[in-house]
Amino acid sequence: MSAKILIVEDEEKLARFVELELRHEGYETDKAFDGRTALEKAVEETYDLILLDIMLPGLNGLEVLRRLQKEKQTPVILLTARDAVMDKVAGLDAGAVDYITKPFAIEELLARIRVALKLHHAAEDPARDAEKEKTEKGVLTWGPLRLDEPRHRVTYGSHEITLTNREFVMLKTLLSNQDIVLSRETLLNTVCGYDYVGETNVIDVYVRFLRSKIDDVFSVRMIHTVRGVGYVIKPWEGDQP
Ligand code: CA
Repeated sequence: MSAKILIVEDEEKLARFVELELRHEGYETDKAFDGRTALEKAVEETYDLILLDIMLPGLNGLEVLRRLQKEKQTPVILLTARDAVMDKVAGLDAGAVDYITKPFAIEELLARIRVALKLHHAAEDPARDAEKEKTEKGVLTWGPLRLDEPRHRVTYGSHEITLTNREFVMLKTLLSNQDIVLSRETLLNTVCGYDYVGETNVIDVYVRFLRSKIDDVFSVRMIHTVRGVGYVIKPWEGDQP
């Protein structure tokens, strides 16, 4: 069954564009162009995810989010204007799972949606998660690379790789989302926490550390840069120096 997504955006052209893209990806969609309609729909209908613009007529996105959170736990990705740092902080405080800054690349929005749906799905279905955990024993792999989460250990073949805590979390996040481009902001939220105050280029620094400890040492290309978007680990396809 495909996920159903509510698009809340008063710029109707943008809303239609996003709707077309989401339908093309196989999602079911619904739209609302103002805050009150959005809140009504969000409360009455069942959505797997809501894309919520902040600057809306009637009731703004943050208010919609706050009121919705009292009713149900539908995951919300906020659409924010560039540089609206306070909105982002307030939005995450109010319970949004992620935000994306307009104008955005549609590929990035799609990646964020996949991550949000995946995380929400895992949180909702602990039995399935536990089953998965049991079969994989908390181990993520990429070719000869093995990340053993319970033992906090990373190996490449028989070589032990020593990582700091944040490098470990970053590698784990990229490995568990193979083939999904993660933005610097998404990685920052995971690696440093939502309350981290600072530049997203700290992520570039961690990528450099990881590359120097893995890619350079074992002559592989593990972490790929997607210009203007973020980073991705593509599935292992044999040695690829
Ligand atoms: Ca707007």
